[in-house]
Amino acid sequence: MQLKNLLQAFVSLFYPKLCVTCGEPLVAGENYFCLECFLKLPKTNYHLIPDNRTTDRFAGKIPVAKGASYLYYSKGGLSQKLIAEIKYRDNRNLGEWMGVLLAKDWLPGGFFH
Ligand SMILES: [Zn+2]
Repeated sequence: MQLKNLLQAFVSLFYPKLCVTCGEPLVAGENYFCLECFLKLPKTNYHLIPDNRTTDRFAGKIPVAKGASYLYYSKGGLSQKLIAEIKYRDNRNLGEWMGVLLAKDWLPGGFFH
């Protein structure tokens, strides 16, 4: 184990990183979410559907070549907790991490081409 990893493990004994949605302590290899919450992310997969609820919202208002939402929103749900964490607690690192997750999911389908 490298010194940096050893130091991080020691610090996490007293200040464990917690899941941003359920508050449970994270284990090694988890970022921001515990595995259970990560698997429960309410993904829309709208990037695979050209005419979806997101593009419908803009229909007739502005020209839209493509549109999609990453997660479904539900009051009190995971997505609301994520938005609150990013927007009201200024957790920019979580916002960047969500962008990484989105890119990993959407790049293979060619959404950004
Ligand atoms: Zn969790």
